[in-house]
Amino acid sequence: MTLHEILETMKTSSVKDLALVSKAYTFAENAHKDHKRYSGEPYFYHLCETAKLIAELGADAPAIAAGFLHDTIEDVNVLPETIRKEFGSDVLMLVEGVTKLGRLRYSGADRYSESMRRMFIASSKDLRVLIVKLCDRLHNMRTLRYVPKIKQARIAKETLEIYAPIAYRLGIRKINRELEELAFPFAYPEEFGRVKKLVNEKKSELLKKIEKFHKSLLKGLVRQGILIVHAEERLKGPYSLYTKLKNRDWDFEKIYDLLAIRIMVKSVEDCYRALGVIHGIWRPLPGRIKDYIAFPKPNGYRSLHTTVFTGDGGIVEIQIRTEEMHRESEYGVALHADYKESDKQPKGKQKKRMYSSLISWKKTSDKGKTVLQIEDTGNGVPAWVRELGDFDSVTSEQEFWESLREDFFKNRIFIFTPRGDVVDLPTGSSPIDFAYAIHSDIGHHLVGAKVNGKLVSIDTALHNGDIVEILTKIGAKPTAKWLAVVKTTIAKKHIRNMLQKLKQ
Ligand code: MN
Repeated sequence: MTLHEILETMKTSSVKDLALVSKAYTFAENAHKDHKRYSGEPYFYHLCETAKLIAELGADAPAIAAGFLHDTIEDVNVLPETIRKEFGSDVLMLVEGVTKLGRLRYSGADRYSESMRRMFIASSKDLRVLIVKLCDRLHNMRTLRYVPKIKQARIAKETLEIYAPIAYRLGIRKINRELEELAFPFAYPEEFGRVKKLVNEKKSELLKKIEKFHKSLLKGLVRQGILIVHAEERLKGPYSLYTKLKNRDWDFEKIYDLLAIRIMVKSVEDCYRALGVIHGIWRPLPGRIKDYIAFPKPNGYRSLHTTVFTGDGGIVEIQIRTEEMHRESEYGVALHADYKESDKQPKGKQKKRMYSSLISWKKTSDKGKTVLQIEDTGNGVPAWVRELGDFDSVTSEQEFWESLREDFFKNRIFIFTPRGDVVDLPTGSSPIDFAYAIHSDIGHHLVGAKVNGKLVSIDTALHNGDIVEILTKIGAKPTAKWLAVVKTTIAKKHIRNMLQKLKQ
């Protein structure tokens, strides 16, 4: 890939921006010149691909430059000071942010996934850090086949547990989907084989059916004067299919959106008109009509969905949306970050736009006091957002997000196990809380703790980033004094239960 291609992809024609990216290109090429990928290709290819993906998402010049430079500190020992001197502190902040996230390792235990995702979001004070990191991971996943076998499964599982959900949460469906489909065969090879076999048996028959239906669908719509901007057929991807099959006893007949046709029309009005026309010709399946235009999904997704009987024994899902809705469903917050304006805009506005599509909320007025409530649609609202519950006297969306984030930073600390798993706890938590967060058995048998390698008393308050090792002994028991020390409800609950048991 050439520099020219990347510059072409950029949305700006500012000489300053183009110069910054060109300089980063040359700098990275030099810094990594003796450095190769597992594939044998020059390492520099990875940096070009990452930068190109960032540019495609519409990110600004510093983010693209950071794409070129993201591995310079960790892999080829470039000094942060050099990056600051050459590219400024904005680019350095992004590179350091990405480097920091790269040091987090996911060990594979489910109970740490949520903490890890929260840690990612909390430590990326700038949305662009996450965008660079997601693009870096996407290119790594595209080339995962070259990585030594022993590492593949871990990286693939980390992608499914951490990166893909973050992309989903940010509404960047394009990256979310590709990450999931790339990771699936490496993370769960057996399940992948099983799904693949099922699909292959039916694929050609299904594709023939959908093609035929697609034609009559377009005919029907055009006859009613609805202008179709674009239409595409889609067979559900293996991973997406797998997550559904798992919950439906592996019964293909219970998957209603195996085949889908997506049509894009000119206006919102046309979306509803098209739905009317379609239901006039084909009978819809009851309960499958979804209006995500009036009620967008928590991550901002908007579209009309319906599933109809095709008349030849099949069913097809139809998604109707405008081009704008489509772009939003693919790129999510990446579109709204409004990188270009960011330094001119007042701080609040900027934040609002960055996060506005992460979740939905409803405003209710209670005796003159405005209350923002998070609408829990059950799919996609992260548990930690739900936990925060209602926000009293919050007046705007922007303040809502500020309080959410402030609360998040102020009241939580991230603690590591010696193996690098991360557990998030309320501020003031002690090794006792930490032990119970890992497992009740570890809590019950706790006798001592090491913080950053030093023995401490078990009621010591922990700090952000501490590495905590729990010492246990068979026969050890919790005492009533612990109840006064612990901050987490889970620890309290376990201790009370155990004390109760010991009394009997
Ligand atoms: Mn990289």
